[in-house]
Amino acid sequence: MIIMAEHAGFCFGVKRAVDAISESLKANHEVWTIGLPIHNPQEVSRLESLGLRVAENDSEIPAGAKVLIRAHGEPLEVTERLKSRGIDVEDMTCPFVRKAQEKAASLSREGYYVVLLGDKNHPEIKGIIGHVSDKSNAEVIADEEEAQNVRFHEKTALISQTTQREERLERIAGILVGKSSELRVCNTICKATAQRQEAARELVRKNNLDGVVLIGGKSSANTGKLRDILESEGVNVLWVEDESETERNSDWFRDKNMVGIAAGASTPEWLIDKIKNIIAAKQEVQGVLVH
Ligand code: SF4
Repeated sequence: MIIMAEHAGFCFGVKRAVDAISESLKANHEVWTIGLPIHNPQEVSRLESLGLRVAENDSEIPAGAKVLIRAHGEPLEVTERLKSRGIDVEDMTCPFVRKAQEKAASLSREGYYVVLLGDKNHPEIKGIIGHVSDKSNAEVIADEEEAQNVRFHEKTALISQTTQREERLERIAGILVGKSSELRVCNTICKATAQRQEAARELVRKNNLDGVVLIGGKSSANTGKLRDILESEGVNVLWVEDESETERNSDWFRDKNMVGIAAGASTPEWLIDKIKNIIAAKQEVQGVLVH
């Protein structure tokens, strides 16, 4: 028997961006993104076979090209540079990321010192900080320890990367409240990541599973987090990136009658379906009742 996690696969923002790339590729033979549009090699290969080109930075994109800004967003100056070169830009920044960018921009204009909670090297954080006009009046912190080092400012705004945990945002707000006369806290956390994590936990707790197949790119941080959660629930996890890896692990399925499936926010539905069918076929061979 196969049991799916209640929330698995593409989140709203990634689906929206990938659908826009697919649509755009129908009309334009070549479409560019800056950086990978999604942390899933199979989906990137599919899009590349249709004409997607991935640039490392905006200077690689030729004049007259079409660019889609991915769900993580880009700093304002990147979009402006592209437009000034006559490049056709379609902005597919996820609306939740857009909200964080707008908060950072407007609160900075209002004179707030902007503290951004997140990973400094993540493109989403680079994009958000890239919307603050006075960069000397902003900083990125990763955790509570770094929050302790934030200096006193009359007015401080705390904004979060969309994938942070609410508990951490609360703890950091608690630290910053003593470092400012006025603290504004913007909860810009998106529920999609937390939903997938909760669904993975529930999948294990509500079902007597023999194991969980986790589907997602090995470089996908959100899929890695799902693996940690599943393992902390004490279930046997098989993390696969594609169909061939599922086939190669035939031994893992032996004597596993109840198998759960979980997938990261960057895993496309077509890949989940393919792997689900492979698992169903394996179970049928073993005489397991498949649902
Ligand atoms: S995880 Fe949330 S913020 Fe990020 S792209 Fe998906 S829906 Fe948007």
